[in-house]
Order: sequence, then structure tokens, then C-alpha cells
Amino acid sequence: MISRRPFLKKSLLATVGVLAAPWLSRAGSKTNNFVPGEKKSGQPLVISTWKHGLAANAKAMDVIRAGGSVLDAVEQGVMVTEADPESRSVGLGGLPDRDGKVTLDACIMDDQGNCGSVCFLEDIVHPVAVARLVMEKTPHVMLAGEGALQFALEQGFKRENLLTEKSRVDWEKWKKKAKYDPEVNIENHDTIGMIAIDEGGDMAAACTTSGMAYKLRGRVGDSPIIGAGLFVDGDVGAAVATGHGEYVMRTLGSFLIVELMRNGHSPQQACEEAVSRIIKKYGKDKRIQIGYLAVNLSGEYGAYSIRKGFNYALAGKDENVLVDAGCLL
Ligand code: ASP
Repeated sequence: MISRRPFLKKSLLATVGVLAAPWLSRAGSKTNNFVPGEKKSGQPLVISTWKHGLAANAKAMDVIRAGGSVLDAVEQGVMVTEADPESRSVGLGGLPDRDGKVTLDACIMDDQGNCGSVCFLEDIVHPVAVARLVMEKTPHVMLAGEGALQFALEQGFKRENLLTEKSRVDWEKWKKKAKYDPEVNIENHDTIGMIAIDEGGDMAAACTTSGMAYKLRGRVGDSPIIGAGLFVDGDVGAAVATGHGEYVMRTLGSFLIVELMRNGHSPQQACEEAVSRIIKKYGKDKRIQIGYLAVNLSGEYGAYSIRKGFNYALAGKDENVLVDAGCLL
């Protein structure tokens, strides 16, 4: 049985963190002031996973302020993280698979149901930009591996070595210790998932990652799977996921959250329910960490994770803050 007491305490702490940003008054964590299909204009909001979300949000908000679309905002926002070699779980400098190859997963979706995705892509710094072109220039949703690379090169992307010296050294150390046996550990769950909503209520989301560090070659996680790593529905809202992707895929977490919001849950309640389902079904395996973010059409948002340590960056027109999410365990 999951004890209710720590759950309540942690939710409260998360709420206090949120209220510290005064411009977020409309983002009451348990409220649900939207009617499906009814767009409300308000302030723009960008929310994204983990600390690297701060720099990504800043870029996304610049795009929105300059009159750009939310789709451009989420794409250009997460590209900041993809290009940052210090971000060891996304794009350039991401930790490799157990064979020392950096393989990337990414997707993007707008509120009209358009989406594009790439998985098991190598040698391209910006998989999210390739995913957007899959969406816009092909009749498909997802391209994988060699085919995704071929498409990227045809579209003018350049091949680059994504394994930085730092990541190579860490991988060499890991090889000695782990004996070629992939480890699942919460430190290497740092995908960037971002949702943006503008003044008119248009929404888009993007998700990009190098996936679980030292994974088996060919492993693809939740991040490029529409409905798992992210989901957007223009009548309801959007959700993104980070963490142990196998469990997000098994429960189709982002789609679930959007459906829960459609049926009356606030974004916060929907994130909490999606986390609880994982624990009810799969138990409290110490290695599982998952964090969800959600936003509804009114710009209310929610955030929740299985265990402590998950944080997210939240930006409005004039502020961009890092907030600790509440957690279940
Ligand atoms: N969800 C990602 C995956 O399983 C990892 C993460 O978010 O850190 O590939």
C-alpha cells in the first residue's frame, strides 16, 4: 500500500515551489478550469524537464516573444540542449550505448495531430529537426536508424561525431566496471521534453534524448514514441515524459495523461494518476524513476514523478524558474 502521508507532504512542497513564481497564479496545481476544445488566451508558458530546460525555455520563449509559432519554439528550444556537450543525455555529448555509439531518439508534435519522429539515429546533432522534417516532408511519422540517417543527409544535415572525449572516457570506465551488462540507474534519465502554449492557446511539444546510457545496441526508449514520450491534443492539452522509458512505453504515459485531462483531471491529477498506475502495476522497483509534465488548454500545468529528484523549468513571459516536482514515494 502506498502511504498517503508522504504523498500529501511532497505534493504540498511542490505547490509551494510553484507559488514562489507569482506570475503563475493561473497554474493552480489541482484546478481544472478548461472546457475541452475551448481555447483560452492567456500568457504564454513553456515547461520542460530538468535543469537543462532553463536554457531551452529561454530560447523557446524568445521565439514566442518574437511572434514565432509554438512549433518553432519547442524545436529551437530543445535544440539548445541537443547542441550542448555538457548535457550528457541529449544530442552531442550524450552517453553512448554499450558499444560506444551515441544513438538518438526524438519527436515533435503540434496541436493539429501532426507529428514526426526519429529513433536510433546516429551522427546528427539535431534529431528533433530531422523529426520535424519527417512530419512536414514525408507521408510517415517515424524513421529509424540507417533510414533516418539517409533522410537527414538528403535534407542537408551534416554527419558529426557525437561522442565527446568526456563521454568516451566515462564509457571506458563503465565497460571495465559493468562487464558489458547494461545498468539501469536513475542518474542517466535526463531527456528533455518540452511543452509550449502561446497567448492564443496554440500548443506544441518536443522530446529528444540519447536514451538510457550504456543501453543495448538498437534499444529505443519512449522518447520518440508518440503517446509515450509525448502527446498533444489540440482539444485538451499535452504531456511529456522522462525517465525509465520501458515503463512509459508499457503504460503509454503521455497519451494516458492527455486522456485523463480530457475526462476531467487537472494536469497535476493526471500526472499523479499516470505515476500511480506504474507503481500499482510494476511495484516499487528502486531503479524506476519517471517524471511527467502536463499542460491543459487553459495553460494550467502539472508535474509529478515516482521518486524525488525530478525537477523542471517553467517559463512565462518574464520569468524562468527551476521547480522541484512532487513525487509519490
Ligand atoms: N526516457 C528516456 C529513455 O528511456 C531516458 C530519459 O528520460 O532519461 O530513453
